[in-house]
Amino acid sequence: MNADANGPQSSRGKSVLFCAECRFESALSDGWLVVSDGDERTVVCPECGHVADHRSERSAPTPQHAD
Ligand SMILES: [Zn+2]
Repeated sequence: MNADANGPQSSRGKSVLFCAECRFESALSDGWLVVSDGDERTVVCPECGHVADHRSERSAPTPQHAD
């Protein structure tokens, strides 16, 4: 059992997101406003309200529309 898994390098894997509008920067899970709406997730800047990221939680959309 690894009771001491919190090494100093554990937090290096965090992806930092930058706001193109006001240059706000923070880890995605630490500071950003994450709005979940159904299958979609929107990441909003808490400083200026700019939408920095918008993605569907469905990683593999299956377009089966044959016209
Ligand atoms: Zn911003």
